[in-house]
Order: sequence, then structure tokens, then C-alpha cells
Amino acid sequence: MARIKAQCPTCGDMILHQSELQLRVCVDNDRAEYLFRCPVCDMTVSKGCSDRIVDRLIDVGVPLTEWSLPAELFERPSGPPISHRDLVRFRLTLQDDEAWADAVRQLPQ
Ligand SMILES: [Zn+2]
Repeated sequence: MARIKAQCPTCGDMILHQSELQLRVCVDNDRAEYLFRCPVCDMTVSKGCSDRIVDRLIDVGVPLTEWSLPAELFERPSGPPISHRDLVRFRLTLQDDEAWADAVRQLPQ
């Protein structure tokens, strides 16, 4: 049973069991962080960590989760940028119930 020293920014240093931590590694950029819920203030604490710390946490049994960046980050919008005129038109549409109903009907399903 491994005990791991961690630090909550509010409550300070504490000793946690390996099952109280989670290790997350992003497969797209290899960034790693460990997380835990502080037993004193109940806030989730997240801290980035180096490859060396990742290896040590895995060695002592901290559960590892791999995740990917959301696909939306890689999407590029098409069409012209939103202009001031577009914003004015949108505001006027929001103030007109009939125009708003028309706009909603035109949305793709
Ligand atoms: Zn705390």
C-alpha cells in the first residue's frame, strides 16, 4: 500500500493512498496530470506532472486514464467571420418573436 505526499493549495500537505489519486495522460499532446479530491476541503486538485512522476505514480498503482482532445479543437469554421452587422441582425432577431421563430425553423435538424 503506497502513501503519496500531495498538496492542496488551500489545505497544504497531506498523505494520500494511491487509490485516492488519478493519473490522466492526454494521448494527443502527452501532457500528464494527477488529480485528487482533498479530504479536508473536498475540492478537486489537479497538477501537471513530468514523465518521471508519471512513471512513479504508475509504479505504485495510481490508476491511469488516457484521454484525447475533443475533435472540435481541430475543426475549422467555414464561411466569413462574424461581423458587427451580423451581431446587430442577430440582436434584432432576438427581439422579434416572429423573426426568431423563422430563424429556429431554418436551423438544420
Ligand atoms: Zn483542500
